[in-house]
Amino acid sequence: MPTKLITDHHIPHAIIEIVEASKKELDLVSPFWNWKHLARQVASAAKRKVSIRVYLRLEQTNEDFYNNLIVDLLDIGAKVYEVPGLHAKICRNESLAIVGSMNLLASSATASYEAATIVDEVQVLGDIKKYISHLTDIGQQSKRSFLGKIVEKLENALPEQPGFCMRCNIEIPFNPLMPLCGEHYQSWLKYKNRNYKEKYCHDCGKSAITSFNKPVCIDCYKVSRPTGFENQTT
Ligand SMILES: [Zn+2]
Ligand SMILES: [Zn+2]
Repeated sequence: MPTKLITDHHIPHAIIEIVEASKKELDLVSPFWNWKHLARQVASAAKRKVSIRVYLRLEQTNEDFYNNLIVDLLDIGAKVYEVPGLHAKICRNESLAIVGSMNLLASSATASYEAATIVDEVQVLGDIKKYISHLTDIGQQSKRSFLGKIVEKLENALPEQPGFCMRCNIEIPFNPLMPLCGEHYQSWLKYKNRNYKEKYCHDCGKSAITSFNKPVCIDCYKVSRPTGFENQTT
């Protein structure tokens, strides 16, 4: 197939096809994301052991949305890179790429006029891959899954350890993913703001500015508490 121009509503189909056809590698590059229409296909690529990398630009205005998106992506095993100033839009697997004007947004798929080219020429595919490596170098990899792994291990391997509710300081089980007591978790759920400022460190219980995203104070963060699995490999 030669390089081909596609437009408007054909583009989302082409992107989905590239995701579905991926066997080894899948790179998704887009400054803005709303990937509901892609989530299922990307998750099933992850199940097929396709190595998935996602490049996005963090929007201050929509931090919660992006935090949740990143957590979802990390959960399925994707690598996520935050690239400041990113404006390129690329979707590639090991044998096909699409480069164009579209964000990976549902609205781009329906409401705007878009154009893109589909490429399968080996040399251009190589150039695209090289460009994405460059984004990997300048981007910052999101490591938030690390916290999830720790918690998983804590829950599986260890008896309950004490921690503190970030809002009222009562003693609760230590769990960086659930740093509030039942009552305050219920009120947090109304807004689900992962950056909402809380008053106490979940680990040591001392006064500190904390949040769902950063549940422990600087001191506790530096000296992570003994968890009993330091010597296990992740
Ligand atoms: Zn509380
Ligand atoms: Zn602390």
